[in-house]
Amino acid sequence: MQLQTSTWVETEEYLKRNNGIVVPIGSTEQHGPTGLIGTDAICPEVIAKAAGDEADILVAPTFSVGCAQHHMAFKGSMTLRPSTMIATIVDWVTSLRRHGFTRIYFLNGHGGNIATIEAAFSEIYADASLSGGEDPLVCKLRNWWELGEVMAFCKKTYGAAHGSHATPSEVAVTYFAYPEKLSNQELSPKIAPNGRFTDAADYRRNFPDGRIGSNPSLATVADGETLVRMAKKALIKEFEGFAAS
Ligand SMILES: [Zn+2]
Repeated sequence: MQLQTSTWVETEEYLKRNNGIVVPIGSTEQHGPTGLIGTDAICPEVIAKAAGDEADILVAPTFSVGCAQHHMAFKGSMTLRPSTMIATIVDWVTSLRRHGFTRIYFLNGHGGNIATIEAAFSEIYADASLSGGEDPLVCKLRNWWELGEVMAFCKKTYGAAHGSHATPSEVAVTYFAYPEKLSNQELSPKIAPNGRFTDAADYRRNFPDGRIGSNPSLATVADGETLVRMAKKALIKEFEGFAAS
């Protein structure tokens, strides 16, 4: 069930049986010369939609622009400052809370969002703490690659070529969602360099084609299908436990 394609009447009915909602959250940033700019938003969106189609889970709109300042030297990347992102997450959660949602499950697709999402949760909890009140609201963060057997599959299938940015697993999920975007282009070097970065100029200098440690040309539509199936199954189980807690 998708919030965007539900009516308020259906949402009111849902809230009588479930106080939980999944919010896919990602980023709009370059993913190497062959990866889609929306990869980090598309992955949690596709997995959450699959879960919402199969189980009684309401899925919010995708929070699709995140913390990506370090990707800004590549065309098409968009970013929020951490402070803007915190304020926006607080407003999204406060809107949902007003309607009675008390279990907000963020399914994340971008490692660079983690610290900021956690900071937003602290902002939200601070409201009750500082006012001396109490609120049953619980926010949860889960990265999609941590779900179920996903990481074990990535290690087994891609080994050292998985890397940490523009990984074959995330690219495979986007190929499953948009098979017409499949690229067979060979990249050079096959496996991108590893390392650290600060700002956008530093990132571009260290990782000239945008990838970090990965070989996304290993990605296939079939792998994407497997990954979505594994992640969906684990998401349904975890969300149901969380919503009932
Ligand atoms: Zn990514």
